[in-house]
Amino acid sequence: MGERVGFIGLGAIGTPIAKHVVRAFEAVVWNRTREKAEAFARDHGVTFAASPAELVGRCDVVMTCLPTSREVRQVIEAAGDAWRQDQLLIDATSGDPAGSRATAAWLAERGVGFVDAPVSGGTAGAEQGTLTVMLGGEDRWVERARRYVAPFARKVEHVGPVGAGHALKAINNALLALNIVAAGEGLAALVKLGVPARRAVDVLNASSGRSNVTEHLIPERVLTGTWPRTFSLALLDKDVGVALDVLADTGVGSEVYAAVKRALEAARARLDAQADHVETIKVIEERAGVRIRL
Ligand code: NDP
Repeated sequence: MGERVGFIGLGAIGTPIAKHVVRAFEAVVWNRTREKAEAFARDHGVTFAASPAELVGRCDVVMTCLPTSREVRQVIEAAGDAWRQDQLLIDATSGDPAGSRATAAWLAERGVGFVDAPVSGGTAGAEQGTLTVMLGGEDRWVERARRYVAPFARKVEHVGPVGAGHALKAINNALLALNIVAAGEGLAALVKLGVPARRAVDVLNASSGRSNVTEHLIPERVLTGTWPRTFSLALLDKDVGVALDVLADTGVGSEVYAAVKRALEAARARLDAQADHVETIKVIEERAGVRIRL
């Protein structure tokens, strides 16, 4: 029999990722809100653990998908003495490199490996099993981790040591945030000039300024006015903060990323705590006094 996998964190993206994992491997799940773990276990024919310690005690490989590296550390420490030599933690959280290096060191003292494995592709990509996974860690742990991320991934890359995956993910999401803010402000101005939003987006998407935001997020969510909640603005703001830390730590710095961070913070102040990241454009619309609709 193969290794047993434990999955911690059945949130918006953790749940569809976990569906692929439990289909491929013998698995146990744990979630802070127990009802979600019970429902998932019932729906997918797996068992759930009553605590992180129980899960760690029952598994060879543990996967986490939590809001930040802080919650990952809390859950890992909560499992305490349950950790054993040669276990592996694969962290799919969009975490921060420094937090991951500290957690990896804590686990290494117990003979446990750590691989950061943040993902890109959203909840739709997770459902379809087509995520991009950015692996950070030592070769031997990364090679072992590959088979556990394969069920939900289309592209898997080992990008560097522990924390490198989280650094790359943070930069990716800062670029996403930048595109949301810049496209939202630009389209608001164009609509005020009398350019129909649909036509402006179509032309951008046949031109050099196009991005995932103009090709997918704006047509599917903003022009239609549907605004689904798949990835919270609070989490994107966290990612841009991590990116700013990466830029500061490397001495590169950035005025642009700092401006995007301020724009997200301003949007959070106007929206409720569960707001989706794309709802940043609602705040831009409000400020401009215009609607970017079909
Ligand atoms: P959610 O807020 O939907 O889910 C968070 C999960 O973490 C829940 O299972 C929640 O449990 C659990 N949790 C929160 N705080 C704690 C804690 N203190 N102790 C234990 N468990 C806790 O987040 P997402 O699923 O959207 O995101 C998870 C990670 O994936 C984040 O790092 C995010 O940036 C990243 N990500 C998300 C994407 C998306 O499209 N949603 C895309 C790519 C990356 P409970 O059910 O009890 O609240």
